[in-house]
Parts: sequence; C-alpha cells; structure tokens
Amino acid sequence: MQTEQMSLITPKWILTLENDDLLENHSLLIDQHIIKDILPTTDARETYPSTKEIELPNQLLMPGFVNCHGHAAMNLFKGLADDLPLMTWLEKHIWPAEGQWVSEEFVKDGTKLAIAEMLKSGTTCFSDMYFFPEQAADVAAEYGMRGVFYGPVMDFPTPYGSGPDEYIEKIIKAHDHFKHHPLIDIGFGPHAPYTVSDEPIKQVRALADQLNMPIQIHLHETEFEVIDAVEKTGHRPSERLRDLGLFGEDVQAVHVTQANQTDMDIFHKYGVHVIHCPESNLKLASGFCPIYALQQNGVNVALGTDGSASNNDLDMMGEMHTAALLAKAVAQNASAIPALEAVKMATINGAKALGKETEIGSLKVGKQADIISIDFNDIACTPVYDPISHLVYSSSRSQVDHVWVAGKLQVKNKQLCHFNVQQLMDMSQSWAEKIQASK
Ligand SMILES: [Zn+2]
Repeated sequence: MQTEQMSLITPKWILTLENDDLLENHSLLIDQHIIKDILPTTDARETYPSTKEIELPNQLLMPGFVNCHGHAAMNLFKGLADDLPLMTWLEKHIWPAEGQWVSEEFVKDGTKLAIAEMLKSGTTCFSDMYFFPEQAADVAAEYGMRGVFYGPVMDFPTPYGSGPDEYIEKIIKAHDHFKHHPLIDIGFGPHAPYTVSDEPIKQVRALADQLNMPIQIHLHETEFEVIDAVEKTGHRPSERLRDLGLFGEDVQAVHVTQANQTDMDIFHKYGVHVIHCPESNLKLASGFCPIYALQQNGVNVALGTDGSASNNDLDMMGEMHTAALLAKAVAQNASAIPALEAVKMATINGAKALGKETEIGSLKVGKQADIISIDFNDIACTPVYDPISHLVYSSSRSQVDHVWVAGKLQVKNKQLCHFNVQQLMDMSQSWAEKIQASK
C-alpha cells in the first residue's frame, strides 16, 4: 500500500553500513517512521510509481550520526570560558555558572539550541547527561529528536537536587514518564568516580538492572584522576567500579584517556563501551584516548562531542575527522582507524553503545528512518575518487543537506524545517547577556 507518508529517496550513493559497499543507482523508501525498501532505482520507480521521489543528485545518503556524549543545555555556556585545564575550568567557571544559572528554563532553552545545531549537522540521536533530564527530554520529544537522557547522580547538591537519593528518585520518575515514548530513553549518569561514592554506585547498578536502564559515567578523563585514585585507594577507578559491580554491556565509559592493559581487559570482559570525545579532550588537554588499542582489544568505541562549553561545537563530522587523525598519531600508525571505521564510530558503534543497534545506526529495511544526506556538490569534495574518504577527510557539516529522524523530515536543502532560527538566536543571546552581566 502506498500512502502520503511514503517517500522514495534517490541519491548518487547509499552507504548503508550493513556491509562495506557503497550502493549506486539505488533508492531508499521511507514509509512513515521506518525504512521500507532499498532497491535499484529502476525497480523502485516501477514498484512504487506514484510515490513522491526526492532526487538528491551528487549526494551521499547514510545513517544519521549518533552523538554518544554531551551536555546539551551547556550550549548556552559556549565560549564562556576557554583555554583552561579541566579542573580550573570546572571549579572556577562552569560549576559556579551552573550553580547560578541552571534551572528548568535554562535546560529547556539550551537543549533546544543544541538540538537545532545537532540536527543541522546531521545528528539524529544524541545522548545527554545533564540536570533536569525530563525537561531536556520534553524538548527532544517536542521537536521529534531521538535521545537518551542520563540524569546526573553525584554526592553533592546542585540546582537539580540535594544529593544521591533525590537525584535517583527524580531519574526514576523521569523514566516512568517516558518509558513508552518511541524516541526517548532515560538512564543513570553517575557523574564520575571522584564525585560519586560507593553506595550510590551500587544503588544505580541495582536499579538499572531492575528497570532496564542504561548507565553512562565519565571515566579516566585525565591522568590526575587515575593517579589520585591510586594514591588514595590503591586502585584505578576502573578497578573500583568493577569491584562495585557497576560494569556491564549497558555501561558507557566516557573519555578514557588513560587505559592500560588491565583497563582494556576489564572493558572487554564486561562489554563496557568507550565513548571517545577527541575535541573536548584536546581542548582541555585531558589526554588522548587510545582508540586503536581499545578496538584491537575488542572494545566498542563510539564518538561524542561532549558539551559545547568544552568543544565548542556539536559537530559529529568534525569529531569523526579529528578522531581519525588523532588515532593515527596516538597509535603511531597511519593505517589506524581508516575513514570507514571513523564513520562507523559516528553511527553504528554509537547505536551499539546506546543499546539501539536493532533500531538505528545503519540503513536496513525495518530499521528506523534516521537518515541524512551529504551534498558533494561542493568544491571541497571535488574530484571524487572515494566518497567515504571525502566524508571523513574533506567534508564539513555545512554540506549536510537533508535529515530525517524516524521518517520525519527535519532538515531540507540545508535548512531546519521546524525551528524559528531567528527566535532561537535571540533567545540564546539574551541568556548570554544575562550571564555575562553577572560575571
Ligand atoms: Zn562530559
């Protein structure tokens, strides 16, 4: 049956990531929220003759990017404090600003700005670890964006709660509210080993098992974090979390700039996913995640931007580019993380890390229609020997042309379909003026 909801997309290339092939002269059929068919264009036009066809000449169709780590609302702190090491940046700038400004309203407005930036740059699913996750999730749901929202758990009070008990209670409430929503998942976000004590970690593990919720934690972000823990306890943070029983296939460890063989063995044994945020690590001089070694040790590595206050953008194409280059320098091997591998880290590996690989991350019949097109009608991408090479090494987010999330068109001809961009920019600037005036 053909409905109004069907569209046939005919690009120059389709990168499904179901195998390593690049399809040419093929079309993809979206039916409501799913991918209904992928077939040769001549067959498609015969089989679906009255379906609306969207022709995208000289464009590459691929799965949308999965941004596995960020703090979306921090988009309103973009450029507030730069060129500082992690702890100075956090303690002297970010935590005081959060203490003063973070509220439900701040989270809603910041998340809206972040979602607009992400959609425009081809991200169709994001993971968010921030205060007021239910408000952030509300915004995502309103705009039709897919997301996993990790409510923060830490020992000390913040504008979101007084301590671990209240955080956990609020996260469970958010989970109950969204548990049947097709685009939204809620998880636990114990902030980091140095901000969460043993008891809440164990509680989070038990509740995650009971409620089938994922867990995300910042881990081994800097060398100092590891040295300090070893001095105080005799154990690396990864060993402590293993001993507390936290690790499993539903856990994502973010950053991991420090990984020795013991850490890699632990991650592999428990199926922990590593989320690599290369640009944030570079900007805060946190260290370099050894992603090639992790992969060689059987660990799934996916990519995240981290928050806009430490990156300072939410550009997964930029992250993919940086990851591919940095991996070669760190491994001292120019063959480490070839272009296609970097694309997988930004898509299907991210879907696996978030436990969503049966729904998203590749273009396959029956999967969700989270799809983007990249416009190769650009001097930066001319001439073309290998489109995948250009995707990673020569393209930029300004070439993202069409974006669908669950079959809904979000970006058309490089323009956001459902946002009033001027209003969004005015709203963000008025936050910046208030924040600046209070400094
Ligand atoms: Zn982070």
